[in-house]
Amino acid sequence: MAKPKLLCVYCSSSDRLDPKYAAAAAELGSELVARGWGLIYGGGRTGLMGAVARAVKSRGGHVVGVIPEFMKVRELAYDEADELVTVITMRERKLLMETRADAFVTLPGGWGTLEEIMEILTLRQLDLVKKPCVFFNQDGFYDPLLQLFETMLEEKFFKPSNMDLFRVARTIPEIFERIESSAGVKAEPKWFETR
Ligand code: AMP
Repeated sequence: MAKPKLLCVYCSSSDRLDPKYAAAAAELGSELVARGWGLIYGGGRTGLMGAVARAVKSRGGHVVGVIPEFMKVRELAYDEADELVTVITMRERKLLMETRADAFVTLPGGWGTLEEIMEILTLRQLDLVKKPCVFFNQDGFYDPLLQLFETMLEEKFFKPSNMDLFRVARTIPEIFERIESSAGVKAEPKWFETR
């Protein structure tokens, strides 16, 4: 059987969230299986990470987790993953997820989540990553970040075309529409004319 395309999901590891976040993460897990995708993620069993992985498994989908050894020994890994890759550093983990993913989705999260998607957008603007990136803006969670992006644009910290290098979805089905609509969007050369 052909291997499924892998959707990389970045999301919170926190178990203390309003249940609406885990419900959306589980909906994403079910929906990605229904659309023929597999999951690649940080391999954790806590928070939204665990919620999305368990939903994928419960629908018979394929889960690839990439977890650093120091988290695995603290029993934070989702051991039911079809493939649980153990790495040493957080950087190796991000590289492996980036390389194997076919698209990236960011659910609500904290610093870890933000760092992961910001690295991908940084590579995206350099055209070193060419894959679709979608923010799931659940109940406006990412509005302040998107506002900051607008300020960066207005103040010329990046080009207008940067705003086309990611998409925003407000519902789970929209995530998949945005992935399709942004496939093939190319980054403009990053560097401005020097004067
Ligand atoms: P945060 O948004 O700060 O909760 O961090 C979530 C991201 O950081 C995930 O996508 C993981 O790659 C990584 N991470 C942080 N904490 C954990 C954990 N307990 N288990 C697995 N991965 C984690």
